[in-house]
Amino acid sequence: MKELKARILKDGRCLPGGILKVDNFINHQMDPILMKSMAVEFVRRYAHADINKIITVEASGIAPAIMVGYLLGLPVVFAKKQRPSTMENMLVTEVFSFTKNKSYSICVSKDYLKSGDKVLFIDDFLANGNAGKGIIDLVNQAGAELVGMGFLIEKAFQEGGELLRSTGIQVESLAIIESLDNCEIRFKE
Ligand code: 5GP
Repeated sequence: MKELKARILKDGRCLPGGILKVDNFINHQMDPILMKSMAVEFVRRYAHADINKIITVEASGIAPAIMVGYLLGLPVVFAKKQRPSTMENMLVTEVFSFTKNKSYSICVSKDYLKSGDKVLFIDDFLANGNAGKGIIDLVNQAGAELVGMGFLIEKAFQEGGELLRSTGIQVESLAIIESLDNCEIRFKE
């Protein structure tokens, strides 16, 4: 997606270890106009799919997910990273965080992810695919169906894209980064 790539080149910053900092427009300060354009693009790419719910992981996935949910008129569920004491009947799985270098649990109430649900997962980054694997596990536990996985930014030099696509699920990324070597942002294609 041209608009996103241009913004990454303008405001994205490379950090050591293959990390792209986009907190000027996605991860901290957010640009709602760009968020909406990205959601429109997801809606276009999944137009053929039968979806009744959007799922994401807190916190950075929530903004793009809610824009997609708004455009499609569908509910948006976010997996929580802390188990709320008030929540019963939860589905729980473990996720390894690439940026924090540690594992954490994510959970969703069985009230909001159920057998028969056809879900689209939306998140900010696809790196090693660990958040995606966690979502696949939660969706399987619920007996629901994962219809697609949409990411704002994919880092093709990490293994997540290959891993998630090998499941047969439709994976879509709006900007695919081939390399961040020498802190130079290079896109695929
Ligand atoms: P994965 O689960 O695919 O291994 O990693 C994706 C998650 O790690 C994303 O939801 C995001 O929060 C974080 N992440 C991975 N790579 C980057 C990066 O280069 N920049 C930022 N800001 N977050 C990243």
